Amino acid sequence: MTHQKRRQTLKNIALATGALAVSRFSPALAGLPSPHQEQTSMPPLREDNNPTPPVTLSEAEWKARLTPGQFDVLRNHGTEPAFTGPNWNTKAEGTYHCAGCGLSVFSSQTKYESGTGWPSFYDPIDKSHIGTSTDWKLFYPRTEVHCARCRGHLGHVFKDGPKPTGLRYCLNGTALTFIPAGS
Ligand SMILES: [Zn+2]
Repeated sequence: MTHQKRRQTLKNIALATGALAVSRFSPALAGLPSPHQEQTSMPPLREDNNPTPPVTLSEAEWKARLTPGQFDVLRNHGTEPAFTGPNWNTKAEGTYHCAGCGLSVFSSQTKYESGTGWPSFYDPIDKSHIGTSTDWKLFYPRTEVHCARCRGHLGHVFKDGPKPTGLRYCLNGTALTFIPAGS
């Protein structure tokens, strides 16, 4: 392959994968808020789907594994801006896993359109896969939801959801990895 042909081939690959488009548009350079759409390219921390034993990593280890957006949400209880995170409007069948450790936490079967701009569910995939705590970050208490295995912050749960539970698990898409059914 000539040098010129090789360059052209590489350019085509970059175009096909969107690499050029990404390099030309950086939200940070453009002064826009980060869309928090980074997905980790690392393999799941654990292959099994058991909530125990717990996963405990140091802050440095989490930083090395997670994207900055994921670290902010999962480890610092951050909140992605509405309508910007991954999968807030995804309707495909599949399961949602903790982006920190890979534990399944929610399913498309209980996902619904809440109109909030965040992925919303009325029930977890298994009650033993999540935990809750009281969050006083705002001037009123909210119930924080986290992964039972690595304690990664996922979002909050409110009592204004649909039947049958009446609950609205309002989650950060950044904290979740979606795995389509059958994959
Ligand atoms: Zn986790």
